[in-house]
This record gives sequence, C-alpha cells and structure tokens, in this order.
Amino acid sequence: MYRPIMYNEEEDAKKIYENGFRNKEYNFYETVLVAKHFRYVMGYGDAKIKTVLKEFCITNDKFWNDVLNLRNIKSAVSKSRKPFVNKSNPIPIYKDEIDAITSVEGYKQKKVLFAIFVLAKINNGYIYNNEWNKIRRVLHSKITNKNIFELIEYYASRNLLYATKNLYHKILFINLQGTLVFTVSSESINNLKKVFEDVFGKDLFVCVDCKKTYERRSYNQKRCKECSQIHKKELWRLQKIRQRNKMSAY
Ligand SMILES: [Zn+2]
Repeated sequence: MYRPIMYNEEEDAKKIYENGFRNKEYNFYETVLVAKHFRYVMGYGDAKIKTVLKEFCITNDKFWNDVLNLRNIKSAVSKSRKPFVNKSNPIPIYKDEIDAITSVEGYKQKKVLFAIFVLAKINNGYIYNNEWNKIRRVLHSKITNKNIFELIEYYASRNLLYATKNLYHKILFINLQGTLVFTVSSESINNLKKVFEDVFGKDLFVCVDCKKTYERRSYNQKRCKECSQIHKKELWRLQKIRQRNKMSAY
C-alpha cells in the first residue's frame, strides 16, 4: 500500500492504534506512528512503549515473529522521538504561480512542472530525486525518470527551478501570498491530472486526416481512433499488394 502524499501523522496513528495495521500485517512506518501515539498521546516512556508496541504487533499481525522483529521494535521506539508531522493542510495555489507555469511552452512541460511544483509546496519548496514515483502517481502517467530529468534541466534553463547535481531541486517561483486561485486537498492531490486539466484545459490535438480536434491519448498522436484504424487497414492493404508483386516476380 502506498503511503499517502499528504498526511496527518497524529490522526493516522490514532486510526492504526484503534484498527490495527492497514494491511493486517506488520509495517515499519505504521509501527513508528503507533509508537508516537504511545509517546505523545498516552504519555509513555521508552521502556513502556517497547512493551506495548510489541503487544500491539502480536495482536495485529498473526504471523508476527518476536525474534525477527526485535531490532525493528527498538528502532521504531527511537524513531518515535520525532514529533508528529502534519502535512495534510490544503495547499494554496496563487495566481503568480499559475502564470509562471502558463509561461512554459508545451502541454506535457506544463503538466509535469505543475506536479513538481505542488509536491514541492508540501516540502518547503523542494522536490527530491526519490519522489519521481509520486509525479507518476499524481499524474496517472508512465513518464520515465529519464524524461523527468530532461524536463528538470529544461525548467532549470528557464530559471523556474534550481537543479542541484543530485538529491533535490528548489522550485523558484513559489509564492507565499498573492491572489488565491484554488487549493489542493489531500484527496485532490491523488488526481492532480484532473486538477491540472480543470485549470489549464485538456491536451488537444488535430487529427491529420479528418482535421477534427480530439483529446490526446498518447504523446505524438497524429490520428483520431477512427482515422487511425482506417490508416492501419490501408497500410496493411498496401503491404499485401507489395508481397503479391514480390511473389509474382519469381
Ligand atoms: Zn480523424
């Protein structure tokens, strides 16, 4: 199961504490959250947390193995010293930010920049190289890492972000105020493609054969569905004729 992109650890910890692991089996991330719940909500100290955390795991994972997971419990107890993180507040999007994205040429270029920018807003303006999966997730896209890197370089050349050699990139057009256009919630971030289309419109193209306008289904699409089928049949027919001519030449 995916970890949510926007989350409230305190609320999530309470739910897991009350209902058990989300997938009904031990998971380190969720164990740390429960440990935080014991520490900050119940007010337990390290020794007590270790005991009740183990009990929690035994109760909530029928295949729980004490010996195998002893180190994980210790590690979860120490990680639980970090306070609860809350990244669930709606993200405000301002007009100047939309204008910056609009200034970029190309539909795909705009869309990926929008995703990077929204993800960075959750993270104080930074996007990390291990977050490429999130870009694919929120855009429901299969874009490759190579493609994303090429786009990052392109955005850097336009001074939209500062690309460091590795690890992370800083988005340079993030504003902290201005005219509010809309907000992205912890639900709508899971379909950022739709949010993008609502603001910037759909990706349209003109079919080379019938000259009508359609919504693009894949990059470099030249024909609509109907014309594409006719085109394929025609290619197939020509190929048959060529084969026949070849045969009769012998
Ligand atoms: Zn067509």
